[in-house]
Amino acid sequence: MKLDVDVLRYLSKDDFRVLTAVELGMRNHEIVPTELIDRIARLRNGGTYKVLKNLLKNKLLHHDSSKYDGFRLTYLGYDFLAIKTMVNKGVFQAVGRKIGVGKESDIFEVACEDGTVLVMKLHRLGRVSFRAVKSKRDYLRHRSSYNWLYLSRLAALKEFAFMKALEEHGFPVPKAVECNRHCVVMSLVQGYPLVQVKQLQNPEMVFETILNQVVRLAEHGLIHCDFNEFNIMIDDDEKVTMIDFPQMVSVSHRNAQMYFDRDIECIFKFFRKRFNLSFQEISDDNEGPDEDGRPCFSDIDKSSGFLDKELAASGFTKKDEDDLERCIEGSEEAATHSDDEEVQLAEELRDTNVMGDDSLQLEQDEGNESKDVEENSEAVESSDSEKPD
Ligand code: ADP
Ligand code: MG
Repeated sequence: MKLDVDVLRYLSKDDFRVLTAVELGMRNHEIVPTELIDRIARLRNGGTYKVLKNLLKNKLLHHDSSKYDGFRLTYLGYDFLAIKTMVNKGVFQAVGRKIGVGKESDIFEVACEDGTVLVMKLHRLGRVSFRAVKSKRDYLRHRSSYNWLYLSRLAALKEFAFMKALEEHGFPVPKAVECNRHCVVMSLVQGYPLVQVKQLQNPEMVFETILNQVVRLAEHGLIHCDFNEFNIMIDDDEKVTMIDFPQMVSVSHRNAQMYFDRDIECIFKFFRKRFNLSFQEISDDNEGPDEDGRPCFSDIDKSSGFLDKELAASGFTKKDEDDLERCIEGSEEAATHSDDEEVQLAEELRDTNVMGDDSLQLEQDEGNESKDVEENSEAVESSDSEKPD
């Protein structure tokens, strides 16, 4: 998907008002009825319909008339709402080139007024996990709010909270600048993902540093869970920075040991292959540290863990964590699918209804509609007032 930020310039205040109305309507509706959008947006002279047409033309909305006439936000529409908010807050001024496409994110450089370049990560949590989500309908039936918008927002919130906490505890991570919706803005790491690095002056030292970070994380109560050559950045002085935190778990997680061992194994494997570091064979006596120097999860003193204490206060709740974790577990299953399947998956995500059982949804919503309009109109007013012209 191309992020054509120029479109932002041509969108009027009414365009954003209607886009925000759709976003608010999506709290309770997978496809927001056109008539409800009109009532939330409250544009004069029935202007909503013309605006909707324009938003649709710019691919900020998706139109669906299979069950009733309505709209939902596309990723692009959601991106624009987040970007507009960031720009209004003065976080950055312009969006530059795309510097990374992760499995569940798009990464861009953004520029501030004073010329500083930052990084914007747009989370796309539904992208890979959609099929797994679909296969878990029993679970979804009880959760009308389980959609990509919600999950991507949770992923961003978690990443932002963890990045901040890790930085405060002296871990080498990017500086967390701002978070809005599914978008996290952070400092730019001057360096390359380790996967692109063919040679190191001092591979043993880099290896040690990285391994120590995994152990230190565990001592602080955390496991990265995706600690590999794609999520470790390295600069010209061979300084290490770790990135990508939405999947991190607590050391008290039921699969903690497995995740920890997997992170360690990834590092050993990569350094063995890429830099020919040799390690003695792994002992399987399970007592004490392994003979090849592999840190042992059970030997780590995890008593100072800060995850539950500090992160609970960050606005990222236990329920958020549970919802996100289910999705990430689903996404690991889905990640085993072929490229073709993933392409198809992305198409499905774009073209269909991703929230599952909407007959149930509608029943629930009917009684709520007038409350919706009242609450949402107020929210549009207040979000409008945040926006300088
Ligand atoms: P994903 O969760 O999709 O894997 P990542 O956070 O790992 O996303 O980012 C994907 C890629 O974007 C990284 O491999 C890296 O090349 C680049 N990237 C991400 N964050 C930064 C940053 N703060 N500075 C520089 N490059 C970054
Ligand atoms: Mg990554």
